[in-house]
Amino acid sequence: MSALGSGVSSIGSRVVRGKAIPRAGNQADWLAIGRALNADVRTQYGIGPTIHTVAVGWTSIPGLESARFVGASRRIRESSWLPMPTPHVDAPRSGSQFVDHAEQDVVNGFIDAVEKGTRIHIESETLWIYVTHEKGPCKACIQGLANRLVAPGILAQLSLRYPGLLIQLTWETAAGKLGYLQVENGDRLQ
Ligand SMILES: [Zn+2]
Repeated sequence: MSALGSGVSSIGSRVVRGKAIPRAGNQADWLAIGRALNADVRTQYGIGPTIHTVAVGWTSIPGLESARFVGASRRIRESSWLPMPTPHVDAPRSGSQFVDHAEQDVVNGFIDAVEKGTRIHIESETLWIYVTHEKGPCKACIQGLANRLVAPGILAQLSLRYPGLLIQLTWETAAGKLGYLQVENGDRLQ
């Protein structure tokens, strides 16, 4: 066992493919888990280290804890062999910069897993999504969370489909800080 300096999170080393993601206890843990997932997905699918955006989802839903829901922007998809989920949710805008985002793949992969599962219980469970973009999800992806008068974006669509599910997005800002967004019952909690 090696000793780690204070403030350094070792939780990233416990992010192992095929196993449940450890629960984060603080911001350093969240960042370490996100970095580990990001690195692993890039290795698994042959995505270069600097091309964005990649997103990875995971859940607390019993029976699905070891699953990873992987997404990437169109530019990465063109050169990588990523899974193609069913298009349950779609972008609310048609401009090319707002469609086919990494978060959309994660949401669709998650819905596929929920629908394929048996005895899936969603109430009070969580879907976590880590996004590699330093500004987090874009305006189209979060559209409709605070305003029901506009067409819902992919996060609002997911949340309205499964109102009892907590959706928690995290990302690493340009300053190396944790960015986050929580969604439940079709609304943004913070
Ligand atoms: Zn987006």
